[in-house]
Amino acid sequence: MTVLVINSGSSSLKYAVVKPATGEFLADGIIEQVGEGPIADHDAALTATFDKLAAEGLHLDDLGLVAVGHRVVHGGKKFYRPTLIDDALVEEIEELSPLAPLHNPPAVLGIEVARRMLPDLPHIAVFDTAFFHNLPLAAEMYAIDRKLADRWRIRRYGFHGTSHEYVSRQAAEFLGRRYGSLNQIVLHLGNGASASAIANGSPVDTSMGLTPMEGLVMGTRSGDIDPGIIMYLWRTAGMSVEDIETMLNRNSGVLGLGGANDFRDLRRLIESGDSAAQLAYDVYVHRLRKYVGAYMAVLGRTDVISFTAGVGENDIGVRRDALAGLAPLGIEIDEARNAGPSREVRCISTPESPITVLVVPTNEELAIAQACAEMV
Ligand code: AMP
Repeated sequence: MTVLVINSGSSSLKYAVVKPATGEFLADGIIEQVGEGPIADHDAALTATFDKLAAEGLHLDDLGLVAVGHRVVHGGKKFYRPTLIDDALVEEIEELSPLAPLHNPPAVLGIEVARRMLPDLPHIAVFDTAFFHNLPLAAEMYAIDRKLADRWRIRRYGFHGTSHEYVSRQAAEFLGRRYGSLNQIVLHLGNGASASAIANGSPVDTSMGLTPMEGLVMGTRSGDIDPGIIMYLWRTAGMSVEDIETMLNRNSGVLGLGGANDFRDLRRLIESGDSAAQLAYDVYVHRLRKYVGAYMAVLGRTDVISFTAGVGENDIGVRRDALAGLAPLGIEIDEARNAGPSREVRCISTPESPITVLVVPTNEELAIAQACAEMV
């Protein structure tokens, strides 16, 4: 029994063929430059996916596929559990597009193409916002005109929910503790980055908001800024809404400050003495520390802090610097443990550290596949 997991973005299509029961990946990969050259559209991208699978000797008919799982970024307030896709759901995901203009439209394209090419399988949407659907109102609401907020559905929705839930459950399992007994902070640091605070198994805050732009500094996204900057750029610098959106989404973050969005490149620049790259790194780490402190206060008692995703799993320096000097707050990183590589869940705090710090590899595809398997 396998599940095909599809994550359809505007210019890429990620896929994985997963055995949910064992966690085994029969295949996974990415089709890039969708919309360019030979991969003219999402149709071509999915065809290329099937070709790639066939080239690896994996033929759709022999895979034992029981479902296709689609990652959908924005589920609004309405969709908070894996949902069987029908025409009405596709329409509703489309209707949520203004809330996630960069993410929901390509997801819809991916869903439509996959439903057409694999009409006999159930297609299931797994929403990135789902885990956070029940945030306490105090964390969910922005302090803006309430009527406007309600009229336009302006709320903190949160994203990367599949990862935050998967990682926090893995953390509990690793520690041999009941999920509902732990207070956790999860730091998902990939190309996009977000933090969450989870109290006794329920999320109580997260750093992304109405859109995946708020919060931590990211590869190309700004994270938190003074909203006044937007009006200032519009009014004074003569930038259009589209210009500003592109700047904040694609030309900001560590790329905007330091000239590289990939942390491996940023590291190389820093090591070569590049002061802009160093500043980008410092701003990134400063923001991260601020969120850790804020979420410790939100939680009152923190048991576990977990690092995950590309940067969180791999960059020794970010983990060290984000939590350096926090022994008075109960966080003591063990340098040697932090520097040791591993693809497994591992502890990087000292045995005496009151707060346990973990590195937990995320696996959104597996989580999506498992959610689908549970449904069918
Ligand atoms: P993700 O969104 O989780 O796939 O993370 C992608 C990002 O992780 C890349 O853009 C890099 O910034 C970062 N990354 C991946 N591998 C490494 C590594 N070995 N060291 C540092 N950063 C890495």
